[in-house]
Amino acid sequence: MQVRAGAGPRPQHARMDLPARDDDMHHQDEPGMTEACFLGPYGENDTLLEKLVVEFLRDHVYWRRNFHPEDPPPIPTSAAQRAGYQRMEARMRRELHQLSAALKRSVPFHSPRYIGHMVSDLLLPGLAAQILTLPYNPNNVSEDAAPVTADMEVQVGLQLARMFGYRHDPSRPDCAFGHLASGGTSANLQALRLALALKAFPVALRAARVPGLALPDDDHAAFNLAPAAGIVLLQDWQDWLAGLEPEARRHWQQRVQAQRLEQLGLAGFLQAHPELQVPVVLAPATAHYSWSKGMKLLGLGRAQLRAVPQHDMRMDAAALAEMLDDCARRRQPVLMVVGVLGTTEYGSIDPLDRICDARDAAAGRGLGTAVHVDAAWGGYLASLFRDPDGNLRSRDEVAAGFQAFPSPGVHAAFAALSRCDSITVDPHKLGYLPYGAGAFVCRDHRAMPLLAEGADYVFHSEGPADYLRHYRSLGRYTIEGSKPGAAAAAAFVTHRVLPLDHAGLGRLQAHSIRAAEAFHAAAERFSGAVSDICRATVPFAPDSNLVCLALNPAGNRELAVASAFVRELHRGLNSDPSQPLQVREYFGSVTTLHLDGLDHEDRKRIVDRLGLDPPAGEGDACLVILRHTLMNPYLIDHENGISYIHGYFEHLTTRVRALADAR
Ligand SMILES: *Cc1c(COP(=O)(O)O)cnc(C)c1O
Repeated sequence: MQVRAGAGPRPQHARMDLPARDDDMHHQDEPGMTEACFLGPYGENDTLLEKLVVEFLRDHVYWRRNFHPEDPPPIPTSAAQRAGYQRMEARMRRELHQLSAALKRSVPFHSPRYIGHMVSDLLLPGLAAQILTLPYNPNNVSEDAAPVTADMEVQVGLQLARMFGYRHDPSRPDCAFGHLASGGTSANLQALRLALALKAFPVALRAARVPGLALPDDDHAAFNLAPAAGIVLLQDWQDWLAGLEPEARRHWQQRVQAQRLEQLGLAGFLQAHPELQVPVVLAPATAHYSWSKGMKLLGLGRAQLRAVPQHDMRMDAAALAEMLDDCARRRQPVLMVVGVLGTTEYGSIDPLDRICDARDAAAGRGLGTAVHVDAAWGGYLASLFRDPDGNLRSRDEVAAGFQAFPSPGVHAAFAALSRCDSITVDPHKLGYLPYGAGAFVCRDHRAMPLLAEGADYVFHSEGPADYLRHYRSLGRYTIEGSKPGAAAAAAFVTHRVLPLDHAGLGRLQAHSIRAAEAFHAAAERFSGAVSDICRATVPFAPDSNLVCLALNPAGNRELAVASAFVRELHRGLNSDPSQPLQVREYFGSVTTLHLDGLDHEDRKRIVDRLGLDPPAGEGDACLVILRHTLMNPYLIDHENGISYIHGYFEHLTTRVRALADAR
């Protein structure tokens, strides 16, 4: 098969660098299935989307008319002939035209030439569901305002729970629970809130001197219960309350309420319990900056966000175990340990299995803490690890069709998701849905009443109907108040059309992993091809579908010069609203590698491979590198025999040669 690089207006015929389209490679693909999923780089599926939008817009209009058909239309049929109406329409058109013209300067996320940030084309089922729902304008703050889509949001939580291996049957008392949020930032904040509420509640029970409950001996023990033990205590308290007469129940509820952290505030709570130290959060240095935001919002500070050492951009689990030991010795409470499943810069995956082991060991030493997974980026990759019937797939099963994915460590991390206390995942990233859709999922929903606004946190579930009825008042639990029901509809419909297993949405995730593997191999070849003028290396072997590339012009030994070189390269790869879009051949992104945050081995490897001098001082330890997100489903275009990955590296070679000549 002849393959050309997707660069330049003239087709350049280049040797094939893409995996052959053999049956083995595509054994999971039903022919045509992926083709119907997106509007497409060329807008190939415009007729399909148009049909859907028009059909369901009409359907919406009939719904309006059928509400009370006896009501006459208050806007007269002749209105369109009036001068004011026409002026209004003209104004609307003028402004919309300008908007549409301005939007042409947008970043072409849909194109396989776009490999910059964590975004790509939108899934048609989600886009159509969102457009369909918008004119109904449901507000998922409560079922009053969203009789249909609030349920869907709770169902989305259960769909995600199933993908992660959580209990997702609402008739079980310890079923998981999840809801949507504006994004991963807000979902991470929700995880912090829940962990803090669960930690502080047993202390409040003690302070209120609730009789008849097996309470921990002192505040320190109460504040450091493991999350599961905290939930048991919360259940015991609710059972005890349920057995009281209404007046006594109110009395005890108020008494406990008065002692809760949510009543006193963090400062007041700690003041009332001088034995307790301010809790810390342990997160890898690779953690997203939403963690710093979350700490501040919680009334904690960045000083309480402690960096766990890492190796190869993955959390060092042995170092975490040591930190936890040290905290236990110093009676330092740990609010939570954050593991990252798909870091924002490298897509690397923390060893969640070993993180959970460390958590369990610490709990045995009296230092209970939660493990939260920030899977805002990598969460949907879990679909690759799930069978349609909900079982976890073995490493060999997952690995069929890939070069190296998943490494045994990566498989173990995904298998351990079900042991983690809560998870953030972004439908607006690898879920290919429109922005405004993050999700928070916790393993055991019984902790959620602690977040509820309003005093009533007695929650006795008698089964699925109860579970649904309760969580329809989503706004009582979420950070957001009014929230778009259309986003819930989009996620729900998408997860139904493409179930969250390897045969459903997993097929798209597989495309992205295969593209990343092809990209990694092409990067190695590129490194050889330009070795006369430049040293290039992939600094960390990718775990998933993000691949970075560090470059240094030959002969240079200074970090700052290498960074300036990459910044200059990136000037040809970024979005530049002052120029026509078509001037850009490809879009990439950059990130800064902080060498002083690396362990000795990583630092030495990278500096040596690039031929750089080791950084002298703190300030100059930064290296700007290229970063690529391989999530576009058409990076390898079998239809036309084009590899945009190949094209990208041809383009990069040309640019690197031109820049090196100019030096
Ligand atoms: C993107 C991302 C976030 C933040 O999510 P938003 O949806 O942008 O708020 C948090 N953590 C990780 C690992 C991410 O990749």
